[in-house]
Amino acid sequence: MKIAIASGKGGTGKTTLSVNLALALSDAQLFDCDVEEPNCSLFLDCEPKLLEDVNCLVPIIDSEKCSLCGQCSEFCRYNALAALPSKVMVFPSLCHGCGGCTLICPEGAVREEPRRIGIIEKAVVSELEFYRGLLDIGEVMAPSIIKALQAHIEEGKTAIIDSPPGTACPVIATVENMDYCILVTESTPFGFHDLKLAIDVVRQMKIPFGVVINRHGLGDARVEKYCLAEGIPLLLMIPNDRRIAKLYSEGIPFVKEMPEWKERFREMFETIKNQVDQGGSA
Ligand code: SF4
Ligand code: SF4
Repeated sequence: MKIAIASGKGGTGKTTLSVNLALALSDAQLFDCDVEEPNCSLFLDCEPKLLEDVNCLVPIIDSEKCSLCGQCSEFCRYNALAALPSKVMVFPSLCHGCGGCTLICPEGAVREEPRRIGIIEKAVVSELEFYRGLLDIGEVMAPSIIKALQAHIEEGKTAIIDSPPGTACPVIATVENMDYCILVTESTPFGFHDLKLAIDVVRQMKIPFGVVINRHGLGDARVEKYCLAEGIPLLLMIPNDRRIAKLYSEGIPFVKEMPEWKERFREMFETIKNQVDQGGSA
């Protein structure tokens, strides 16, 4: 079972939910796919260790063979190649590693070379296997790191995936192939607006989903009313509770100090399993 935790914007409690849910389940894997700013480890009190580099294949042009026909630069939709009168320039940081220029070159003048764009790290915390991806500074290929990260999902285990915020490419790369998506929000005007954007994405991708309201009690009842009207499962409401906020500020997952929440998360997981088993999409 692969469950992504997403939200239309940052700061809604996505990471809190991911970490607490993963800790409440036994034998789970937790993946921090917010590869530009991973922060699950702050709540796990661990020092993840390097597991592997993530590389992207970028072209190298053999100037002896190149006829300067320009077909490669015309083909490259990412503007990573520029055919000048005297040579072809390569801009590695723009290259998406699609391999198209190697295939299209009529002279066989393009070969590919791996270039590091980030890393995958791992830690084991009690029963929990934790993985995170880190995109190197200045790199743009977050989806490649996310794919490399998700290659470590083990069949038969429950994978909890902390998604990047927003609704752009890294989020799509994170949530595609998921069995279920939990959308976390706050019942405020901004939270509601961004939730609806996230709902549009998961509906278009036909991923079953449900909503968790974080800091419930802040704002109004607009999210609850909307979910009711749209037939969207409201999975859990985490109250705007002083004790939860204090534990958060100390980097302590609240399931550790408030065991009743472990049970609530497990019940939510069972609800999700039933929804997936019934093929339910909201
Ligand atoms: S397609 Fe090949 S031959 Fe043509 S400009 Fe590019 S590298 Fe040179
Ligand atoms: S591999 Fe793809 S993205 Fe990279 S330079 Fe070649 S055509 Fe462009």
